[in-house]
Amino acid sequence: MKFTRNIDAKVYAECGVVKDRYKYKCVRCGNSNHGLFYTYTDYYGEVTYCLRCVNLGRSDSRTPLRVVEPSRYRELIAYKLSFQLNKEQQYAQERIVDAIKHHHDLMIYAVTGAGKTEITFRGIQFARSLGMNVLFVSPRVDVIREIYLRLTDAFKNARIDLLYGDEKIEADFVFTVSTVHQLYNFRNHYDVIIVDEVDAFPLTKDQLLKTQIDKAKTDSGVIIYLTATPEASLIRKVKKENIVSITRRYHKEPLVMPEVYYTNIKKTLRKKKLPEIFLSRLRESLAPRNRKVFIFVPNIDLLVPMKEVLNKEFEKVETIFSGDPLRKEKIDRMRNGEIDIMITTTILERGVTFKRLDVFVVHGEYFDDTSLIQIAGRAGRKLEDTKGNVYIFTKYNTRGIMKAREKTFQFNKGKVKL
Ligand SMILES: [Zn+2]
Repeated sequence: MKFTRNIDAKVYAECGVVKDRYKYKCVRCGNSNHGLFYTYTDYYGEVTYCLRCVNLGRSDSRTPLRVVEPSRYRELIAYKLSFQLNKEQQYAQERIVDAIKHHHDLMIYAVTGAGKTEITFRGIQFARSLGMNVLFVSPRVDVIREIYLRLTDAFKNARIDLLYGDEKIEADFVFTVSTVHQLYNFRNHYDVIIVDEVDAFPLTKDQLLKTQIDKAKTDSGVIIYLTATPEASLIRKVKKENIVSITRRYHKEPLVMPEVYYTNIKKTLRKKKLPEIFLSRLRESLAPRNRKVFIFVPNIDLLVPMKEVLNKEFEKVETIFSGDPLRKEKIDRMRNGEIDIMITTTILERGVTFKRLDVFVVHGEYFDDTSLIQIAGRAGRKLEDTKGNVYIFTKYNTRGIMKAREKTFQFNKGKVKL
């Protein structure tokens, strides 16, 4: 079911905020933190509303929550794939169908650029043919946007809902793409939930959001986790026999092994300069190879100083960070070729796919192996450009850098260690 403000919906008996002895509790998001409620008095008396989920519309102690009962119907939805699945992918695809059939969770542990989304298509089709409600969910807005485009492109005749922050395209919630936050509105609704980038912030940091996925799921529902960098705790939870690994990218070329350079960029930036090795790698990428570049920095303070120095030599340079109001526009501008170099925080480490992209990491000693694997995974993803370059500039070697290189090496040999 879905909580809604739609007046046609059936009225749910309970108010959004209820009082349990002396404590308030939000029925919709489960909040019971005293500091996250606001109470005021008007003509009719006292009203308390929940601050935690207020951006989804107010949940308060006066208005009953409204509920839409899930519509369930079978449909046969056709899809098309833009490439042919290889053996590993076909096997993973069958395992997903099998997991849905037998109601158990499954993890697809796949290298970056393995075509994880495409592997789920048959499972989605199978679930919908049985009338199961399907949800594709990720914690990241950029990932959600890209997945929605890929799904609507593949499933031409399906009506797919898109739910995230500033945008909503609503059909009837039988096939939905959503950020985790929007799930506060659903209870016991989805039979198949595909969680993309399960280890991505803020899902790992916020247990409540994980609970939200469980609440949106029906009792017999199935969760399919997609990840390139699983956490040990999730591996234990899903169990080894329910983990399928894909060590090859969809285009069959190996992952790009990062090259490491030892240098202190913060120090040179203070003198309004960049190390010669950094600049020469950058020039190689741009001019003769005509590529685009992502420069990942460990914190937001480095964005502007970096841009200032680069602007002495390069024109089409931009910065981007998670709170950037022009975030979406800048990504679109880079796609249109108006930006050559994007200096970014880790927000672009996942889900974003560009053609002819090289990746630079500044102060690699601040990034863990998960982050470095995701970042390196931006390079060489396209069929027409499988190589790409990944450079890590760091003050010193770290466990994270060593582990990222080691895992890349193992993947390229077709091995996965759980
Ligand atoms: Zn709430």
